[in-house]
Amino acid sequence: MAWRAYNTVNGQILGETSSSGARPVDYQLDALGSVVGTIKTNGTLENTYRWAGYGQQVSKTGIGSDPTFQWVGGWGYRKTDALSYVRRRHLAQKHASWSSVDSFWPYQPQLRYAHSSPVSYADASGLAPEFIGCDGVKGAKLSDCCRKMAPGSLDRTKVKECMKRKGFGFPYPVLDSDVDWFLDVIQRYCSGTGANDGSNRVCVRCGGPDNDLPSWPSKCPNPCKTTKNLWGIAYPPGPQPLPAGIKDRCELVEYGPPGPECSDIYKGPTGRKCACSVVICDRAFTNLAEPGIQIETPCAILYHELAHCSTLGHPAGEEPIPGIDMSRSLDFVYKLGCCICKANYGEDQCGKECSRITKS
Ligand SMILES: [Zn+2]
Repeated sequence: MAWRAYNTVNGQILGETSSSGARPVDYQLDALGSVVGTIKTNGTLENTYRWAGYGQQVSKTGIGSDPTFQWVGGWGYRKTDALSYVRRRHLAQKHASWSSVDSFWPYQPQLRYAHSSPVSYADASGLAPEFIGCDGVKGAKLSDCCRKMAPGSLDRTKVKECMKRKGFGFPYPVLDSDVDWFLDVIQRYCSGTGANDGSNRVCVRCGGPDNDLPSWPSKCPNPCKTTKNLWGIAYPPGPQPLPAGIKDRCELVEYGPPGPECSDIYKGPTGRKCACSVVICDRAFTNLAEPGIQIETPCAILYHELAHCSTLGHPAGEEPIPGIDMSRSLDFVYKLGCCICKANYGEDQCGKECSRITKS
């Protein structure tokens, strides 16, 4: 029986080999995950490829046969006639759009592919961040927070400038490279290209203090209920590489998953594993009368929680509680969530806690 096998590391496809043994090749991938070259077992470059925005082949060199996966092939995009099959949806490359409506519409654009930034984004599942129970205003708001993270929308210079201002008592130098690293992480989660573990998905649940967090395991305490005044929380699944030296620069602690009774929070309703599980409590959206909440506060919170998905924690013993004095907090995560929100939505829109950051 003929077979073909694919070598994957961390969910990315890095090469293929077949039963004939004729041509095992390694994929040379670009930053987006497209195959830009095939490398033979003796180490020589066989074919090279160049791709336009929505996957049109611009050029090919070499006479080797094409690999099974090509444009964004590292993430499993597979060409089928005029379409690319992207795990659960087909992408009509000629029309630069999906051929069927996103199952999370209206929280996600119906047909628009990769925030209309195909060079910067891939969408490895054909979906986008998995918003669970975040409907109506909440879903629209969180989708907008994520869309604002797209390259070309987010002004990274503004974020970096903001991170250098005073605020939260944060006394450490902020390296632009640290900021870029975390912005990359948040962008990947927001675009659905996610973590390195192949699940490619952050699950964001919206819910209130009653037992109304969708598909939340009953043995696992509802954080919106048990932690007073909580606006949001993230549960990263386990260790992931942080930038070298970040802990020394920021006094950070690692931030782990909750106990085994909570393991189901990593299961999305579609059955796929979530790379990270985030909760945004209803309080962050609805109680605009509550001191400190402003119209864009949910975005500041979402960015904050997505930064936690990297396993980046708060300084030991200093988990700041919204509404409580945070003046002693040496906190990178709070500042980053606020600075991204300010860059995207303006200086005064992101809540009272964010106004701690001086204006210049
Ligand atoms: Zn936090």
